[in-house]
Amino acid sequence: MTENAKPRAEDALRNIRIVLVGPTHPGNIGGAARAMKNSGLSDLRLVAPRLFPHPDADARAAGAEEILAQAVVVDTLEAAIADCHLVVGASARSRTIPLSSFAPDETARSLLSVAYTAPVALVFGRERTGLTNSELDRCQQLVMIPANPVFSSLNLAAAVQVLGYELYKALVGQSVKAHASRAATRAEMHHFYGHLERVLIDLEFLNPAAPRKLMRRIMRLVDRSRPDSNEINILEGILTAIERLGHGPSSPRNT
Ligand code: SAH
Repeated sequence: MTENAKPRAEDALRNIRIVLVGPTHPGNIGGAARAMKNSGLSDLRLVAPRLFPHPDADARAAGAEEILAQAVVVDTLEAAIADCHLVVGASARSRTIPLSSFAPDETARSLLSVAYTAPVALVFGRERTGLTNSELDRCQQLVMIPANPVFSSLNLAAAVQVLGYELYKALVGQSVKAHASRAATRAEMHHFYGHLERVLIDLEFLNPAAPRKLMRRIMRLVDRSRPDSNEINILEGILTAIERLGHGPSSPRNT
C-alpha cells in the first residue's frame, strides 16, 4: 500500500474479481464489463465463454472495452479463483444443502472487508442454467438478489450491475475496516479438506460410498469461520497427529 497506512478504496476495488462462468451470449459479457466500469471494478475472468472476443461484446461494453481487453479467459472455475480468499456465488435459486445466503448489501460488506488486503471473487453462472452444484461447492457463500419469486432470474449483466452497485455504495458510504489476518486461500482450504476427508475415511467416520453430503456440511461449517493460514496449519497438524496415532507401532489397527 502507500506511506499512508489507511486502506484505500482503489486497493479494494482492484482486489474484487468478477467471474462469469460459461457465458453464452457475448453481449452479456460486454454488458457486464460496462456495469463493472460503472462500479469502479476492472478484474474480469471468463470461464470457457462460448464466444469471446466478439463484436457484440464490444458493442455492449460501450466505453468499457479496456475491461474486455484485459479480461482473462480460463478453462475452469477453480483456475479463476485459486488465489482468492473469499468466493461468493450469485444465484437466483436456493439449494437442498443451502450455503449461507446473504443479501447484496451484506455481501458487499463482507467482500470489501477482505478485499482491502487480498483478492476476492464474485461468481456468476450461465444464462440458462446458472452454476452447477460442483461450482457452488467452490463458493463459500451465496448472494441472492431479492426479486419476484415467480420470476427471480435477472439478466446476467443486470445481476453484475446490481452487485457492482452495492459494492460501490458500500465503499463510498463507509470506511470498511480491513481484517487483521488474511483468510487462507482456496487452494490451502482445498488441500485441508482433502486431508480431512482421507482421515475421516481412515477413521471409518465417513463412508466413501456416500461421502458428499457430510463433507459439504463440514466445508460449510469451517468456511463460515474464515480461518487464516495459521489456523489451517494447526488443523492440518492435528490431522497429521491423528494419522500418526492410527499408523503407530502399538496401534490396534495395525495388529
Ligand atoms: N436460470 C438460471 C439463471 C441464470 S441467470 C438459474 O436458475 O440459476 C445468470 C446468472 O445471473 C446466475 O447464474 C446468477 O449468477 C446471476 N443472477 C441472476 N439472477 C440473480 C438473482 N436474483 N440473484 C443473484 N444472482 C442472480
